[in-house]
Amino acid sequence: MKKHPVCNHCLGRSFALLGTSTDNFTRGFSIKVLLTLEAHRLLEEEYVQGYEILKILAVNGNFSMAKDLLRKKGKEIVNEADWKCYFCGGIFQRIDTIIDDVVKEVEKYEFNTFLVGSHVDVAILEKEDELRANVGLSYGESIKRELNREIGKKLQEKLGKRVDFEKPDIVILIRILKDFSHKIDVKVNPIFIYGRYRKLIRGIPQTTWTCKKCGGRGCEECGWTGKRHKESVEELIITPMLEVIKGEEAVFHGAGREDLDARMLGNGRPFIVEIKTPSKRFISLKDLEKYVNSYAQGKVEVRDLRWASREDVRKLKALSQIAAKVYRVLVETEKPISEEELKKLEQMLTGITVRQRTPLRVAYRRADKVRIKAVYDVKTKKLDDHHFEMIVKCQGGLYVKELVSGDEGRTTPSVSEILDTKARCIELDVLDVETPA
Ligand SMILES: [Zn+2]
Ligand SMILES: [Zn+2]
Repeated sequence: MKKHPVCNHCLGRSFALLGTSTDNFTRGFSIKVLLTLEAHRLLEEEYVQGYEILKILAVNGNFSMAKDLLRKKGKEIVNEADWKCYFCGGIFQRIDTIIDDVVKEVEKYEFNTFLVGSHVDVAILEKEDELRANVGLSYGESIKRELNREIGKKLQEKLGKRVDFEKPDIVILIRILKDFSHKIDVKVNPIFIYGRYRKLIRGIPQTTWTCKKCGGRGCEECGWTGKRHKESVEELIITPMLEVIKGEEAVFHGAGREDLDARMLGNGRPFIVEIKTPSKRFISLKDLEKYVNSYAQGKVEVRDLRWASREDVRKLKALSQIAAKVYRVLVETEKPISEEELKKLEQMLTGITVRQRTPLRVAYRRADKVRIKAVYDVKTKKLDDHHFEMIVKCQGGLYVKELVSGDEGRTTPSVSEILDTKARCIELDVLDVETPA
């Protein structure tokens, strides 16, 4: 105190590990009281020494009890209005202002849980370390720890929300800069919504494809949309979700994907939408489901919406490679096909494994490799001499169009190979994507 102005908090914090059931303010206040009493006693015996101590308490301690005593002895000491503690610059007096600023910052978001932390400029931390090293104090705690505790306590009261160390909805960081001013950073954690979608029409991709010609900037070819297709399953789902939840951005994660020209029927395909920086969390998923479905106008339909987590996204991705799928395929053959041949086809495709090299049609974006995939069950229904319907249940990741065509020998066995004629898929629907219970 002889060297620097110091507030009650900072003085007390230097002895934080001594005593219990009190706070640093009271510790510092008490030390100043004790010193004032001692100085008062000394005034009677060693006037100069007592006076010096009182002066230090009044000036650098900004301590009213010492000032009052000096005034009674005819020595008036008035500190500047901007008296500031050398160590904290008065942060602890400003805590309520900081709390108010935090409340203003987080008001725009709905949340249940939060976590608050602080970052204190290294120059401030060094002042404290230097003092303690010079004077040999070893019972102090750091300014950061005291700040976190004081702010956390008050903020919890003020917000009426719970602190969550594991998965907080929002994370608040209070930065104390070199000049003791403060800045507040708020990070809002994303929300995840799981659901299943059905794609009821053909011709829309699952995710948005950027126009190759302009790279998404917009050109004549894409009608200045930057996209190769007007709509996608992704857009039809995330646009209304973003509108309701008022997030900054959404990411669509599907459990695999169907081809552009394939419908997705049955129970639908599992997906998870991740919404970044959501303003709303207290929403009804039932209402959201209705809203998405009215927005998507029967092209896409969502169901079974529920809350999910980042962990679920990982599971969904892993699942998509193994989950069984059921397809309905409309097959056209070059030569006429008999019922007997279809029976033989069913037998030869049921319960087998298929070797598939990456199909030619996707080779430009996928690595060329051989996949071994299981076909569990095949049922056929003859429509006319050149057309039949095939219901295929197989492992996820199997390319069904190539199972029909043979892809110039890259998939074997295949419908073409077994029937010994050119066969091709003219319509494809996904009827079911199985999920473990
Ligand atoms: Zn201080
Ligand atoms: Zn374009």
